[in-house]
Amino acid sequence: MNRMENKVVIVTGAAKGIGRGIAQVFAEEGGRVAVVDLDEQAGQATAEAIQAAGGQAAFFPADQTRWEQVERMARAVADQWGRIDVLIANAGIFPSARIDDMSEADWDRVLNVNLKGMFFCVKAVLPYMRRQSAGRIVITSSITGPITGYPGWAHYGASKAGMLGFMRSAALELAKDNITINAVQPGNIMTEGLEGTGEEYLEVMRKSIPLGRLGDPKDIAYAMLFLASDEASYITGQTLVVDGGQILPESIQALE
Ligand code: NAP
Repeated sequence: MNRMENKVVIVTGAAKGIGRGIAQVFAEEGGRVAVVDLDEQAGQATAEAIQAAGGQAAFFPADQTRWEQVERMARAVADQWGRIDVLIANAGIFPSARIDDMSEADWDRVLNVNLKGMFFCVKAVLPYMRRQSAGRIVITSSITGPITGYPGWAHYGASKAGMLGFMRSAALELAKDNITINAVQPGNIMTEGLEGTGEEYLEVMRKSIPLGRLGDPKDIAYAMLFLASDEASYITGQTLVVDGGQILPESIQALE
């Protein structure tokens, strides 16, 4: 308990889904949580729900594909709470398009939000973390891309694998300032975004998960809490898969 006491935590994509679960858990642990999102109504509602539960949170709107908005958001968080200790770079999108049908705009949108947006968020918090000679960054990658594939998600998989490539070089650049960066790779987590894939997809996924259920946003949040904690101070540039065992079976028979 209270592993985030006196810490200022930015969570992107925190209006909904995995990000909201992360924001709730980090607030329960005593953190002051900046709920960052495009969706102003849902972002405000998440911050208010955390406050109603006795936590500390405030909503900061930002489109993470826009550098000036991300930079302004980081400055506003530091102005409000004096520092930035943790960045959870989580916002992302996963629209589906087969390669034959994928337009340049489809490709650019996914890469811009998932990869460039994460880069902007990391870049924006660095001056504050460097000033403190301490910081923790955790990024939300995926099993899709770095480990598995799924038809329709070639652009998404490329973005999520790209995040890990970014992370490894970033870990080397940031180590001298005592800033760590690690990634969590979720499997299928029940969120508003995943709901959009449809019941048939969700049922097939349930059957593919050895632990027999889709993940909950808090399953990801607890893994991130560890990577953002003081106990994880000697871990950087690493990945943690949180997927109910989904990547393990070599065949469907292995699940019987
Ligand atoms: P979600 O339910 O769709 O929530 C994502 C939130 O991010 C939404 O509120 C969305 O706002 C916001 N967002 C989108 N683009 C943004 C931008 N440019 N700037 C700021 N905020 C933006 O998604 P989720 O399922 O929680 O996924 C969160 C992260 O986990 C993503 O990076 C995703 O790739 C990753 N992930 C999810 C799963 C899963 O099974 N759910 C699995 C592996 C990885 P709008 O709704 O207004 O667009």
